[in-house]
Amino acid sequence: MSEDRAVDVVVVGAGQAGLSAAYHLRRTGMDFVVLDHAPAPGGAWQFRWPSLTYGKVNGMHSLPGMELTGADPSRPSSEVVAGYFRAYEERFALPVRRPVDVRAVREGEGGRLRVETSDGTWSARAVISATGTWDRPFRPHYPGQDTFLGEQPHTVRYPGPEYFAGKRVVVVGGGISATQHLLELAPYAAATRWVTRREPVFREGPFGEEEGRAAVALVDTRVRDGLPPRSVVSVTGLPLNDAIRAGLADGTLDRHPMFARITPEGVEWADGSRFDADVILWATGFRPALEHLRPLGLREPGGGVRMEDTKVVRDPRVHLVGYGPSASTIGANRAGRSAVRDIRALLGEAPSPSSSPSPSPSPSPSPSPSPVAVPAPAASLAPGPAPATV
Ligand SMILES: Cc1cc2nc3c(=O)[nH]c(=O)nc-3n(C[C@H](O)[C@H](O)[C@H](O)COP(=O)(O)OP(=O)(O)OC[C@H]3O[C@@H](n4cnc5c(N)ncnc54)[C@H](O)[C@@H]3O)c2cc1C
Repeated sequence: MSEDRAVDVVVVGAGQAGLSAAYHLRRTGMDFVVLDHAPAPGGAWQFRWPSLTYGKVNGMHSLPGMELTGADPSRPSSEVVAGYFRAYEERFALPVRRPVDVRAVREGEGGRLRVETSDGTWSARAVISATGTWDRPFRPHYPGQDTFLGEQPHTVRYPGPEYFAGKRVVVVGGGISATQHLLELAPYAAATRWVTRREPVFREGPFGEEEGRAAVALVDTRVRDGLPPRSVVSVTGLPLNDAIRAGLADGTLDRHPMFARITPEGVEWADGSRFDADVILWATGFRPALEHLRPLGLREPGGGVRMEDTKVVRDPRVHLVGYGPSASTIGANRAGRSAVRDIRALLGEAPSPSSSPSPSPSPSPSPSPSPVAVPAPAASLAPGPAPATV
């Protein structure tokens, strides 16, 4: 195997969290690399189903230093965000290498961390792990699951509403994905049944900064206690928008409690009632993708990783961004900044005088965040630091 390549910081993952960290690392002058195992820019967004249009996402925040504006709400969010991330990486000349799978991070020599990848090894003074959750879809187990004669896709492979034409579909899960799937596929399906573990909580009115902070604080407390995080959405409730109101009124979102078992033909409740089904669609969420950190033994007895802000308490060289309280686009932005500030202090790096990384190819500092419009099929940018309006 080749020699370790040495850098100050390895960032694992080039989604919103990894790119935010990379942006701030650029400002410090530290030597770093971003490793991502996806084939193209876009983080997990590039894999989201085509019917999840940009207009349907639940509030997407721009990355620091370059606004995403003017995107057509009817375009798939996968295209819009992938185009935006590509433009962002280019504008700030971020050193992203892909596809590179990070397989393990372990103790290296001289107090450094050794990062083992599908493309050789790196030696780093600190690691920012920004690997999201998309690679770890979660599917609970129910008795009889293996006997079911139909299909059991997960949100991660949601094929779009037309696929369910004429089928009887059980949708499992109480999150935004479940409600969006139901509202989309119900007009095509022969019948639908929505089941959730807990009674869904619908949120009336706007979700302001104060509510956001309170929700994030709840997840943050769990993480500080070394418990597995809950998703931010699980503590914010479901936004009661027009589509949801209509679904509640026409019975599409008529929620049932969880079934007790799965049979070859469908699902069955404890009282013996049944729903015959062709498909059970598991919209049951995701778990943090942290396997590469296993050799460092970061987990607490409670099953989570104890954190202070983005720093792992057991190993301050390791930061998790986009994890737990920062698992949203706005949270990921803040986490990237915070992780870099902490790492700079840990490594004793002097603060950089510039206020933002130089956009490529111009070496001059960027002015205030520059808007970029994202036309189909991908983002395009005017050269230089001037705001790009297309
Ligand atoms: C269906 C869905 C809808 C959402 N909608 C919204 C919304 O409307 N608004 C909002 O604010 N948030 C939303 N979120 C949450 C939001 O997408 C993320 O929290 C946010 O984008 C932060 O992304 P991230 O960088 O942490 O992760 P990701 O975008 O998942 O990026 C992680 C990156 O790490 C890479 N990676 C993973 N493991 C490895 C490895 N071992 N080696 C190398 N690379 C690796 C992946 O390839 C990926 O590119 C949604 C999430 C889901 C699942």
